[in-house]
Amino acid sequence: METTTLHITDLFKQFARTQQEFLRQLRQGEDLRVKGHLDPLLALCSSDSEISLLRQTLLDPYFPLGMLEQTVFSDVDGMRFFICKSRPDLEPVLTAELRKHSEAFLRIRLDIERFFDPETITCIPLDGQRHQLPVDQWCTLCGVCCQIGGVPAEPPAGISYPDHWYKYLAGGAVDNQQLCPFLFQYFGEERFFCAIHHVKPMSCRYFEEKECRQRLAQRSLHAPEKGVRCQEKKLEKTKRVKPEH
Ligand code: SF4
Ligand code: SF4
Repeated sequence: METTTLHITDLFKQFARTQQEFLRQLRQGEDLRVKGHLDPLLALCSSDSEISLLRQTLLDPYFPLGMLEQTVFSDVDGMRFFICKSRPDLEPVLTAELRKHSEAFLRIRLDIERFFDPETITCIPLDGQRHQLPVDQWCTLCGVCCQIGGVPAEPPAGISYPDHWYKYLAGGAVDNQQLCPFLFQYFGEERFFCAIHHVKPMSCRYFEEKECRQRLAQRSLHAPEKGVRCQEKKLEKTKRVKPEH
């Protein structure tokens, strides 16, 4: 397959879909297939350290590939504007966003091991093994409420965060943050969980079913991919604003 001329959005989606399928099914002997999609993505890196970083995070079973697809690598469809993420001039921006998400993810993973107990900090032990996620609850772990630019970084009583978590929670992990870096994904499934659930900030603890329903009823800015190409989408939008004569 010719991949060298593909945009990072295509390269990322190709890799993310294959890797998530691989994680869901844990199919043996398919590493090469995943690798075939990973290498073209790594070829966009500008240094060995960046390659090493992305290799660690992109293959991690908790890295939120599915949510990055839905946010960073998804077109933005506003009421009066449309941002096509496949624009060539956006490629360096998206590459930097992927790198920054990866840096934050890896740092949070290490912080949890260093400063907290990875067995108990969230709804499942963060040990790289499969565990039963919660099922008897109103929250389906869709992760939509964590598609957010930042939250007030107030920890629960008796908890102190590592210094840089205050910046991460407030939205400073990535320029123009669209996704909380503490949101992890469960083995390629469409289930996303807060990596610091038991010590998450107060504003997240106060987020209950009523707020959830309100959030889910809101129109999302990110356009789900339905095979509509950017150009067609732009034309659609032009038609929408043109007066009928
Ligand atoms: S609280 Fe609601 S929006 Fe947030 S993850 Fe759960 S179901 Fe999704
Ligand atoms: S801290 Fe946890 S619950 Fe709060 S926005 Fe981030 S991932 Fe979601």
